[in-house]
Amino acid sequence: MRAPTAPDRSMATPELFASLTDDVVASGSVTVTVPTPSTGEPLHELPHSSADDVGEAVARARLAQLAWARAGFAERRRILLRAHDRLLDRNALLLDLVQLESGKTRGQAVEEVFEAASVTRYNALAARRVLRGRSRRAGVPLAVTTRVRYRAKGVVGVITPWNYALSLAAMDVVPALAAGCAVVQKADDQGALSILALRRAFIEAGVPEAAWAVVTGSGTVVGEALTDRVDYICFTGSTATGRAIAEKAGRRLVGASLELGGKNAMIVLDDVDPVQAAADAAYGCFSAMGQLCVSMERIYVHRRIAAPFTRALVEHLGAARLGSSLEYTSDFGSLATAAQLERVEEHLDDALANGATVLVGGRPRPDVGPWFFEPTVLTGVTSEMRVHAEETFGAIASLYLVDSDEEAILAANASEYGLNASVLTRSPRRARRAAEALEAGSVNINEGYRGSFSSVDAPMGGVKASGLGRRNGPEGLLRFVDPVTVSTSTGLLRLPRTAREFSALAGPFVLLARVLRAIRRR
Ligand code: NAD
Repeated sequence: MRAPTAPDRSMATPELFASLTDDVVASGSVTVTVPTPSTGEPLHELPHSSADDVGEAVARARLAQLAWARAGFAERRRILLRAHDRLLDRNALLLDLVQLESGKTRGQAVEEVFEAASVTRYNALAARRVLRGRSRRAGVPLAVTTRVRYRAKGVVGVITPWNYALSLAAMDVVPALAAGCAVVQKADDQGALSILALRRAFIEAGVPEAAWAVVTGSGTVVGEALTDRVDYICFTGSTATGRAIAEKAGRRLVGASLELGGKNAMIVLDDVDPVQAAADAAYGCFSAMGQLCVSMERIYVHRRIAAPFTRALVEHLGAARLGSSLEYTSDFGSLATAAQLERVEEHLDDALANGATVLVGGRPRPDVGPWFFEPTVLTGVTSEMRVHAEETFGAIASLYLVDSDEEAILAANASEYGLNASVLTRSPRRARRAAEALEAGSVNINEGYRGSFSSVDAPMGGVKASGLGRRNGPEGLLRFVDPVTVSTSTGLLRLPRTAREFSALAGPFVLLARVLRAIRRR
């Protein structure tokens, strides 16, 4: 793998970092030093919030939410579209911040900013269409009319991880705002600057400050304090934490959407161009160095094409440029934290000790940066190894050979997770059959994850241990409202109340039911 390029110019300055972190709701003096993955050096000091700060932020958000909900769809749409334009105006700065905090390449940071802007535009424009009140069929025609209106849930808690801080925040916060809710968000330390810069664009566009508050701190103190206080909780993170949050939300009988882990499978059928397929597999597995919930960790390749595909994959990854440049010069970036490097090394050591073979990669690259690791493909992986079923969430993919489409689908489904899946084939028929059979919340044909990830009008989420609920699309907006059914007695026809009235109307009601059935009305 080719040599490093050092981090270079940035529009992001220490003054800007300090001004952004001033916006965290944190009354005490506790701070943590957040490093940048490109060098491991300190990037900035982040204040941490307390449980009381969370209480204060939620209380202020409650007040702000009343006015924000009353402002109506048209006003919120105007403000959110203005925020969208600001995101595009600040594109370069947001790219710098995302890279400095996450260690991603410029190209992979572009995916984040593009996604945040798309989500903002979509929700600004779709909220009224999805959430406006509507007439529904009346139970007794003429006697009643029925409408459903959607009432914003109130204050939404959003908990996001470090890996895609900007886009994952937008996917939960923006639809909540568009629906008329206020948000208190717990940002992970490693993504807080990106989130605060995103938020600032929205505040400048007209979102009230208290309607989107940001708190920081540990999951067990600040995360739990938030889960205990809000009217709905959006969580993105590991399955283990997701289960703990679901239990808490269940006890309080508040709703939750949980976007959790994955062990996503890519199926490479025998009709593909092996070189193109290898390039798709390399990106699908290692964009953001595999630290993306929907990226691939398992490749099932048809035996007939395995040799040229594997050769092309090894060549492609062997020629890839690793680096932390803030220009478009690196193909792959760094792991985000020292803990991530440790986890990747543990999984690799365990696999090698149990007999797996490295096809390509397999080495840390301290010459490029402290947490760089080569994109690594393993073969000979068996069920005793941790990489087989556990989510690594970084730098390692396992390659398995299969003899048929059915074998590949069965193997892909033999996982506790079901977040995303991918099929590479030239045959629309084989692709459709696989998409129907794969147990996943999204299936990408001839791509790893970007088709579904960028389709913000379509729901995104997981089945099995990958989560509950969906973000994006109408489903993503409907999370943030309670439907309220309003039925009005018209007075044209009175519903029976006394024995005599029931006796007179029992016959006509049976007749009415028969007529409705005959004309196929529900
Ligand atoms: P994590 O579960 O450890 O932490 C996620 C966030 O939850 C952090 O901000 C953390 O401080 C907070 N948290 C921890 N304990 C908490 C608690 N008891 N109550 C409330 N909040 C708490 O996950 P991570 O390691 O930071 O992120 C990686 C995981 O996230 C991977 O498993 C990955 O697959 C998953 N992920 C899923 C998606 C998705 O859309 N499905 C997207 C990105 C990441």
